[in-house]
Amino acid sequence: MGGFAHNQVLALADKVVDAVKSGAIKRFIVMAGCDGRQKSRNYFTEVAKALPKDAVILTAGCAKYRYNKLDLGNIGGIPRILDAGQCNDCYSLVVIALKLKEVFELDDINDLPISFDIGWYEQKAVAVLLALLFLGVKGIRLGPTLPAFISPNVLKVLVEKFNIKPTDTVEADVEAMMAGK
Ligand code: SF4
Repeated sequence: MGGFAHNQVLALADKVVDAVKSGAIKRFIVMAGCDGRQKSRNYFTEVAKALPKDAVILTAGCAKYRYNKLDLGNIGGIPRILDAGQCNDCYSLVVIALKLKEVFELDDINDLPISFDIGWYEQKAVAVLLALLFLGVKGIRLGPTLPAFISPNVLKVLVEKFNIKPTDTVEADVEAMMAGK
């Protein structure tokens, strides 16, 4: 099921906020970005399967094709995969995050119960990543490979200032993300 752009999700905002407050939704995992033909991209399928039932995946772009046919069920009627659409719809995911920040009266977007586990591949994803960095999002996971053009110095800055990290094993990443790391 697709079509969960910000208008649709925000129409359910009260329901979503209640689910977070009651603990029915513990964490949102943004698994957006690109897909590719490498077998290693099954990482995203396995993460989707391994996430606990109180985690909701927010997605846009081709990465979703790794897991969007899985039957992950719903939480009180909210599908566990909220698919905003194609990669340009990452805008919707940002709007949803900013709205949640407002609703929960947080000063820092990093205090939201959201982790970013992004499938990396194409140049367009650079613009999406830069937008997230501009918003101050920290601790983004990128994988299963890092962009080839990232020089050691640029990587050092991204790690030091934004705590960007490469994806690890499925088990380690699921555990870390659910612990808010
Ligand atoms: S940039 Fe290309 S590969 Fe990546 S999500 Fe968009 S359409 Fe898919």
